Amino acid sequence: MNLDKAYKELTGFLQPDQILKNESMKKHTSFRIGGPADLMIIPSETEQIVKAFNVLREHNIPVMVMGNGSNLLVRDKGIRGAVIKIAERYSHAEVKYDSIQAQAGILLSALSRLALNSSLAGLEFASGIPGTLGGAVTMNAGAYGGEMKDVLQWVSVLDEDNSIKVLDRNQLELGYRTSIIQNSNMVVLEAFIKLQKGDYDQIKALIQEYTRRRQEKQPLSYPSAGSAFKRPVGYYAGKLIQDAGLKGMRVGDAQVSELHSGFIINLGNATACDVIELIEQIKAKVKENSGVELQPEVKIVGEA
Ligand SMILES: Cc1cc2nc3c(=O)[nH]c(=O)nc-3n(C[C@H](O)[C@H](O)[C@H](O)COP(=O)(O)OP(=O)(O)OC[C@H]3O[C@@H](n4cnc5c(N)ncnc54)[C@H](O)[C@@H]3O)c2cc1C
Repeated sequence: MNLDKAYKELTGFLQPDQILKNESMKKHTSFRIGGPADLMIIPSETEQIVKAFNVLREHNIPVMVMGNGSNLLVRDKGIRGAVIKIAERYSHAEVKYDSIQAQAGILLSALSRLALNSSLAGLEFASGIPGTLGGAVTMNAGAYGGEMKDVLQWVSVLDEDNSIKVLDRNQLELGYRTSIIQNSNMVVLEAFIKLQKGDYDQIKALIQEYTRRRQEKQPLSYPSAGSAFKRPVGYYAGKLIQDAGLKGMRVGDAQVSELHSGFIINLGNATACDVIELIEQIKAKVKENSGVELQPEVKIVGEA
């Protein structure tokens, strides 16, 4: 891997604030945890994404794609190689009758606001999920009985050969917090979301109700990555953790939230090591107490 040569070539088509060296991942994750990424690229155009991949592959630089970092735990030594952050700078969206076509970096909150302002129903469930559209497609994000699977029509991706192709909803293999994107090297570029014409006041009321429930039940004033574990079939992870007597349990500054045992929160200076140790202890104790094996929902990346 030749980072210096790659950096020089990248500066040929990226602005200085679009290519950052040694960038702390704490600034880019909702957990506020993580060591530095060697390079971070923040594209604003499809062409920049394609060109960046060409340069990085040519110099054998490993690449990780991220959205808003709300489901990521970055280890303490950070990320070797490059992170391509597809976020607000790549977030153009257009309403097309009862549908929305949007770039992957748009935040779900902005997307659901756009749907509301166009009196389009179907995205209310997503209004409080703090990720991008690309992250939500990858994770098949969902809440309150809705999930991305219900609204996605097609997605355009950049594949491993650096060519753009369109995947129909049936090709996305959307399941509980999973999609074909997760175990591939594909990058979500755009998505087409099919909604229904609805009533502005009803859509707004539903968003307000979901917001109220989140504020009441989730520890939103602390950094976290949302639910730390996937929901095991037939159970709730938070209840299993609480029943094992782990509410409030701490490793360093990582804590099982007192408000919602399914969340691990950062009390201030938690390290990735603290969180991973807490995850392991929770898994072991829940297994002992209930026989259920918890699987982390949060994606753990980077160098230990
Ligand atoms: C307070 C809080 C509440 C939450 N509530 C919910 C909830 O109700 N429901 C829910 O499902 N989730 C929830 N989450 C988790 C998180 O917001 C979702 O998983 C979200 O979809 C992640 O999006 P992101 O853009 O932040 O992705 P990131 O965390 O940046 O990345 C997640 C994964 O997606 C990949 N990825 C991201 N963008 C792209 C792209 N353009 N192309 C290819 N791969 C990509 C990354 O490589 C990584 O594997 C919550 C998180 C927090 C902090």
